[in-house]
Amino acid sequence: MKCKICGAELKKEGDICTNCYKAYKEEEELKKDVKEVFKIKRKYSIAFEIAKNAWVFVIFILSSLICLTAGGILEELLLILILGAVLGVILFIDKRLAMGTQAVFYEKKVVYTFKFLFINTTKTVKYSDLRDITPFQGFTQKRFDYADLCFYAKGTIPGVNLLNGFQIKNVENATEILEIIKEVIGLS
Ligand SMILES: [Zn+2]
Repeated sequence: MKCKICGAELKKEGDICTNCYKAYKEEEELKKDVKEVFKIKRKYSIAFEIAKNAWVFVIFILSSLICLTAGGILEELLLILILGAVLGVILFIDKRLAMGTQAVFYEKKVVYTFKFLFINTTKTVKYSDLRDITPFQGFTQKRFDYADLCFYAKGTIPGVNLLNGFQIKNVENATEILEIIKEVIGLS
């Protein structure tokens, strides 16, 4: 007799081996874990996006000065239109990303979802499979206390790859949130 799932030789009567049975039981247990404990989302903030994309304004002001010295009112208007359009696109994309990204923490697992345009990803990670959570902060993020939180699963190298793990960008109140997450997960 062989195990129906992994093909291992069975020592006792049955359809599946003890390893596969254990994995199946564990999965069933995880499915029952539906009580939401905590949730994190990617933050959408116009002030943050403008601060992060300050280069758009720098280019705009420089171009404006050139236009003014050349004396073209039409060019000036065109520039304002372009600036508006560029900012509009940046804000639109960021809002969409923020709406589609979240991680919900249950008692034993975390479920990460990412939806953007045609992408629709869901990942479930058991707390016992989580190895580390690392915050990354850029210059603008530091000012806003935002951070990109990386969740590394076991078998991956923190800081190098996110295989089986996930990342949530621009998490608000990052310092405080990280403490709460570590408590919920039991990492410290
Ligand atoms: Zn098996």
